[in-house]
Amino acid sequence: LLIYIKEKRDKFLNSKQKSYRPAILIILIVLVLAPTLWILFTRMEGQAPVVNLSLDKAALGRSQTLTLTISDEKSGIRRVWIGVLKDGKEVDILKKSYPSAGFFTGGISLTDTIDVPIEPAELGLTDGKAILRLAVWDYSWRKWGKGNQAYLEKEVVIDTQPPKIDIYTTVHNLNQGGAGLIIYRLSETCRDSGVSVGDDFYPGQTGVVDDKNVYLCFFALNPEQGPGTQLVLKAVDEAGNTSEVGFNHHINARKFKHDTIAISDQFINWKMPEFSADFPDITSASAVDQFLMVNRKLRQRNRARIHEITRRSDAQIHWKGPFLRLPNAANRAGFADHRTYKYKGKEIDRQMHLGIDLASVAHSAVPAANDGRVAFAERLGIYGNAVVIDHGFGLFSLYGHLSNIDVTVDQMVAKGDIIGKTGRSGLAGGDHLHFAMLVHGTYVNPLEWWDASWIENKITSKLIAVHAQ
Ligand SMILES: [Zn+2]
Repeated sequence: LLIYIKEKRDKFLNSKQKSYRPAILIILIVLVLAPTLWILFTRMEGQAPVVNLSLDKAALGRSQTLTLTISDEKSGIRRVWIGVLKDGKEVDILKKSYPSAGFFTGGISLTDTIDVPIEPAELGLTDGKAILRLAVWDYSWRKWGKGNQAYLEKEVVIDTQPPKIDIYTTVHNLNQGGAGLIIYRLSETCRDSGVSVGDDFYPGQTGVVDDKNVYLCFFALNPEQGPGTQLVLKAVDEAGNTSEVGFNHHINARKFKHDTIAISDQFINWKMPEFSADFPDITSASAVDQFLMVNRKLRQRNRARIHEITRRSDAQIHWKGPFLRLPNAANRAGFADHRTYKYKGKEIDRQMHLGIDLASVAHSAVPAANDGRVAFAERLGIYGNAVVIDHGFGLFSLYGHLSNIDVTVDQMVAKGDIIGKTGRSGLAGGDHLHFAMLVHGTYVNPLEWWDASWIENKITSKLIAVHAQ
């Protein structure tokens, strides 16, 4: 019996051992193999770091700072290197290593943004063609522990010489609130050049002569920029090297008229509902608020729109000779009149009138002041039905308060072509034409552009001279 029992027990234990085996295997897998596989899988990931280098231009100038953004979400960044290869010689620009959190966990830094200052002369690099090279490694175990690598290279030109500016026009006799023209040649292709007038900048444009380095720049002094205004001609080449030169000029001071305009309830009740397209609930405001909404807010908004319209201009001089003035018309208000608005004897607003008001018989035909391309032709707030003509190289004419418009956008018009009829749409009490001239978005005195001798001396003669060169 004892033997029998022992046999039974052994058999029982054997069977028990047999049924334990798969469970032990599962425990083994869960405790050892799975983490091992998981570590191998995550630590052996094959995704290269992501690199973003701000180098939009293929040129390195005298001094610049590149911004490098790198990231590696899976293993973290191990190190980064930047070098410049010039004439077979490699110059290190950046070497940076990042700490690891531990053998099994990878790098601490998943992302980094580095400003990389580069001054070729300091690095012993001379002007000419070179290759900018960049490499980033992560903390993956791949490549026998060296990590995944992101690599990029870019051909660049090292150019540490600023552009030379040769000014062709010798005399620049300017009026406060007036326009000017400067013509110059640059020693190399530049990404930006033009005249800065105080805080404003007027870009130069090529295309008027075959030499692609000859630039024309129409610039302006606004009505508040008198003698003493800083005028500087600037050029920035593709590598960011900048040249600035002054030029011979004289600014004549101009005094502008002061005017008082009485605003009546009758005018507000008659005119303001017209602006409900711009301010839907305008008529629920008080009389003064209605007027201020239009005279301040809408004026500002409309001027911004015109500035936007005049940002792009044809690189072609469409016009010739003096600009036309509305025939048989009397000047009603002048350029840069300083207007004070009064309501019931009390001052409520001040604005500057940036055009000339011309009154003829009602619904007079309005001629295009000169040749050009229609840049705008629709209703525009205080200007009512308005037309803007692009005469090229940043010069524009504007016609406001029209009763109807006879042209469409992009239509080419010749001097004298009828573009519409005078009226009193927008902020106008009576039938008249509001005529304005703009140079790269700055309002200038139309009197200059109507004046045949000003056109001849200040503009045409300079253009003829540059063509003869
Ligand atoms: Zn006006």
